[in-house]
Amino acid sequence: MSRPVILAVDDDPQVLAAVTRDLRARYAEGYQMIAADSGAAALEAVHEISERGRTISLFLVDQRMPSMSGTEFLLEAQKVFPEAKRLLLTAYADTEAAIQAINAVGLDQYLIKPWTPPDEKLYPILDDALDDWQANAVKPFEGARVFGTTWSPTTYEIKAFLARNEVPYLFIDIDNDEEGATTAAEAAGGSTELPIVLLEDNTVFINPDKSVLAEAVGIHTVPAFPFYDLIVVGGGPAGLAASVYGASEGLSTVMIEREAPGGQAGTSNRIENYLGFPKGISGADLARRAIAQATRLGAEIITAAEVDKVEVAGPLKTVHLTDGSELTCRALIIASGMTVRRLHIPGYERFEGAGIYYGAAATEAATYRDKHVYVIGGANSAGQAAVMFSRTSSKVTLVVRSGDLGEKMSAYLVDQIGAIENIEVLTSRSVVEVTGADRVESIRLEDLDSGAYETREASALFIFVGAVPHSDFLGDAVEQNEKGFIYTGPDVRSFTDTWPLDRDPLPLETSVPGVFAAGDVREGAVRRVASAVGEGSIAVSFVHRYLDTV
Ligand SMILES: Cc1cc2nc3c(=O)[nH]c(=O)nc-3n(C[C@H](O)[C@H](O)[C@H](O)COP(=O)(O)OP(=O)(O)OC[C@H]3O[C@@H](n4cnc5c(N)ncnc54)[C@H](O)[C@@H]3O)c2cc1C
Repeated sequence: MSRPVILAVDDDPQVLAAVTRDLRARYAEGYQMIAADSGAAALEAVHEISERGRTISLFLVDQRMPSMSGTEFLLEAQKVFPEAKRLLLTAYADTEAAIQAINAVGLDQYLIKPWTPPDEKLYPILDDALDDWQANAVKPFEGARVFGTTWSPTTYEIKAFLARNEVPYLFIDIDNDEEGATTAAEAAGGSTELPIVLLEDNTVFINPDKSVLAEAVGIHTVPAFPFYDLIVVGGGPAGLAASVYGASEGLSTVMIEREAPGGQAGTSNRIENYLGFPKGISGADLARRAIAQATRLGAEIITAAEVDKVEVAGPLKTVHLTDGSELTCRALIIASGMTVRRLHIPGYERFEGAGIYYGAAATEAATYRDKHVYVIGGANSAGQAAVMFSRTSSKVTLVVRSGDLGEKMSAYLVDQIGAIENIEVLTSRSVVEVTGADRVESIRLEDLDSGAYETREASALFIFVGAVPHSDFLGDAVEQNEKGFIYTGPDVRSFTDTWPLDRDPLPLETSVPGVFAAGDVREGAVRRVASAVGEGSIAVSFVHRYLDTV
């Protein structure tokens, strides 16, 4: 198979020669380098490469070129190769143009000339971009075939599980593929359950348990040891961060994740507010990077293994898995997160992170300054968000299903909302559709009393229709609030009387010494990727402080 292309474009022959030389020095084995000395010549090359059925992985383009700027070239080139990574070469004076290009052409990065030494200033950025490109490039089909139907929930679950764990598979819709239906029926041997998974060696799984399938496709599902310094439950941003810090600070660390590393964030198309990713990053990319980092630093990552119970005996904590196995540790971090309730309406998933948000954070308030935003939900959290957005947005519409705002919201908040001029309250309304090109542009509302529909312009929807913490497996091992969110730090003493020691609980420490909670599962958490990462990271320093005491 021919190598993917890296296309370098610069009108200065010396710079073009230098950049091509540096690119060849590192990437010649996996990529073909093509150089063009103008935007027009580069566009010709783009079309030729496309006509030959080949692919471009990365554009590295000078911004300041006569007749066609780097940004103008990228606008055209991305129509042909939308997946290719886009990097601009700029002079220091042009950084403003490069930052503008992040939005205009979805620029991935910009590099300031000169890029010497390339080991420091060029290769790390290109390695990163090419790793992302590789991870998202269509993967060669390597064996697993999933036979099912588009509307079968169990088929969807297995497909999602394989995709989130980056296992390549081929889906065969047996409703629309006769030959596939016959193969599936033969493999199923009379069973009507879906999906049927056929591996390359012809092993058949019928609606398989995820851990069984995981083991069969080579996902690490069994811990290597019975005892660790630190066990982390949950592989979302908090758990991944805790694993990175635990392992890097010398603790033998294992992370146990029941589905796929990445957690809620892993399902997000684009996280726009996480520091260091000016163009935003998909949850899947963020998770992939974090897994690589945690593994490189020595953390063990176990997937498709679910924690069923936690037992504490003095300084030792034992974690029981649903397959009946158990492992023990000196310190435990619970980072099992939560599930937000979603609206099941057309357009919803497409705009998650691009106009549809869960919860509210001040960062998004800034993004939607002077715009009209919608807050969906009728409980206090929705009311508080409406008040917060009313300070910065031009208008806030609170959409509530019930006929009375006071049904689920505290009276003081109902009064406060009533007194704020730019908050509009729509009761007995339900959002039934969200539309737009690449971000939310309008929503369709149903009047639940009259059955009438109305379409309105909208730039953002903030969803507050409930959340369920993943803390059932803890039983009453650690103290939680009435909804199951875990008390930590000072809250343990404020809301419970079970703390057993003279010292105060450490920050993030639960009602059981040596058991910590981080991220969304914690009562009072700011439900954001950055705060989950922050809590997972700092939890490890409190683990050290705890270990010093036992
Ligand atoms: C669609 C979507 C988009 C979002 N977009 C943004 C955004 O753009 N910016 C932003 O800042 N925030 C965003 N958020 C919020 C953000 O993703 C969360 O705040 C963050 O993921 C919380 O991280 P966490 O590690 O605490 O928990 P989670 O991400 O919930 O991860 C917890 C993990 O624990 C695992 N687990 C649970 N129970 C067990 C068990 N018993 N055994 C083993 N494993 C278990 C789960 O499978 C899960 O993988 C978004 C959330 C969603 C749902």
